[in-house]
This record gives sequence, structure tokens and C-alpha cells, in this order.
Amino acid sequence: MINTCPALDIVIPCYNEEEVLAETASRISELLCKMIRNKTVAATSCILFVDDGSADTTWQLISELSRQYPHIRGIQLSRNRGHQNALLAGLANTRGDAVVSIDADLQDDINVIEDMVNCFKEGNDIVYGVRDDRSTDTFFKRHSAILFYRLLRLMGIDIIINHADYRLLSRRALQALNQHQEVNLFLRGIVPTLGFNSCKVTYKRNERFAGESKYPLKKMLALAFDGITSFSAVPLRAIAILGILVFAFSMLISLWALWVRLFTDTAVPGWASSVLPIYLLGGLQLLGMGVVGEYVAKVYLETKRRPKYFIADSIEEQGRIEEPEA
Ligand code: UDP
Ligand code: MG
Repeated sequence: MINTCPALDIVIPCYNEEEVLAETASRISELLCKMIRNKTVAATSCILFVDDGSADTTWQLISELSRQYPHIRGIQLSRNRGHQNALLAGLANTRGDAVVSIDADLQDDINVIEDMVNCFKEGNDIVYGVRDDRSTDTFFKRHSAILFYRLLRLMGIDIIINHADYRLLSRRALQALNQHQEVNLFLRGIVPTLGFNSCKVTYKRNERFAGESKYPLKKMLALAFDGITSFSAVPLRAIAILGILVFAFSMLISLWALWVRLFTDTAVPGWASSVLPIYLLGGLQLLGMGVVGEYVAKVYLETKRRPKYFIADSIEEQGRIEEPEA
């Protein structure tokens, strides 16, 4: 049965976001109140801020905001665990029928949340927010993102192009997601594998409202690396294929050397044909070992089953938004 007035939770991971939080809370809260008044979503809907071990006043701000706005909740992680883990902590602590995850910096257009809810009501369990215009991103960010999505697709990973972690999940999609016990959970790769009905809503990506990106190059590379190695065995296979090709090539060279030795009188092996293969094979072996090592490391990390995060503190919402007049 289609839920016509679902309880909606909006999850917002925050890491050192003191500069944007007040504005984010005010804008999203205004939107949520509007949706409650229009009976688009239920009065029990709420906003959940996850403080990912910030070093600034983010947590104090969240607790102030929860006093100021009745439907704001917060959880604080014991230390910085990264965006994906903060998001998972948030998702696991929601109660609504549908959950929207969004970044704290207002780069994603919050007005499409309403479209997402409408798609949910039409029977979609997953609604992807897709950026159709990234002109406000830096040249580097835009091109590295294109490269990232292309590379992932090339590796056979079913990723939605230009979709980050702005999405709506129904309670049952969330339950399916929660059954994944992986330590390195790459949500953008996992969610499309859940199945269920899904659709996309598009929006224009804005500039960060304030502050700096909390995703420096190092974190971006780590995410790309994780994305590939958690989902794809293509690098392993590519190395194996390369190994076969190199082997075939060296067989041909051997045959050629034999031919020169038997049928010509210029049988002095050249320097290149004897020395270069040593380097070539040495390089390939190292590369192969590196790739295998990466997968072994993944197995090692997964087998430990370490918890993804610890919650240090939490704030419940202080009250409910008034029910609209009948
Ligand atoms: N974030 C987080 N933990 C981290 C890094 C980032 O919770 O270790 C949050 C951050 O506060 C923001 C979201 O993840 O809400 C996306 O980060 P950001 O906007 O800096 O990334 P960008 O848009 O530059 O890729
Ligand atoms: Mg951002």
C-alpha cells in the first residue's frame, strides 16, 4: 500500500561544519515544516545531524539548534570516522518510513527533497539525486569526478553517474542496506545493487554555502580506491591477462632467438632482448603483487569485523511540530 503521508528523516553528516550549520538547519527546517503543513510528510518527521567527531563547535551548535528547532536530533560519533561511516551511523539511527541523506554544505538543492518524497509515494524505494549541472564545481573536481565515474563503470561497477550521497531510501531499502556487514561500505556502489523500484531526480549543484571542502584529494583518492577494490575483481583479472600476454610475447621472442641461432650467423643476442625482459617482468610481478596485496588487505580488514563507529552522545528532538489544523 502506498504511504501517502510518510514520516521522513533527513540525515546530515557534519565534519567541522560550524560555518554552515545554522543556515543549513534553518533552511531544511523551513522546508520540513512546509512539507508537514502541506501534509506531504508526517508530523513525526525529523532532521538528524551526525557530528563526525568534529574538532570545532559543530556539536555545541547541533545541541543549540535542537533547542531552537523542535524536530532536530543529533548524534555525535566518538571520533572522525569519515563521511560514509557518519552517514551509516545516521541511517541506522532513523525511524521514519523514508530517509533522505544530504551533505551539510547546501551544495545539493534541498528543494528536490519534495520531488524525492513524491517519487517515494509513487512506489519507488530508492530515489537518486543526480547533478545535471556541475558548473559551480572547480575544474579539478569536475574532471576528477568524470574520471572517477568512468573508471568505476569500466570496472563493471553499476554506479549512477553524477550521483553522490544525496538520495532517498525507504525503510525496507534501508533494512536491506543494514544487512551489509562490510567494513568498507561504499554506499554509491551498494545502493544500486539492492534492487527495488528506483528513480532519479535531477538538480543543479550549488557552490558550498561556506567553509572548505572536507574531502581533500587524499580522501577522494581513498574513496575511489575503496570503490573499485570493494566491488570489482577487474584489476586482478587485468593483471592475470597481462601476465598471459607477456608470457606469450616472451615465447615468441624465444622462438625468434632460436631461429636466429639456427638459421643465421648473427647469433649474438642483443643487450635489449636479454636485459629488458628482466625489468619488464620484474615490474609486472611487483604490480601484480601490489594488486593482490590490496585485496588481501581488504580480506584482512573485513575478517576483523570491527565496529564502524561508536556513538559518544545523542540528543533527541525536543518536541513535535504542531499538527496542521484539520
Ligand atoms: N564529512 C563527514 N566526515 C568527513 C568528511 C566529510 O561527515 O570526514 C561530511 C561533510 O561535513 C559534508 C559531507 O560529508 O556534510 C560532504 O563533504 P564535503 O561537502 O566537504 O565534500 P565535497 O562536496 O567537497 O565533495
Ligand atoms: Mg560538499
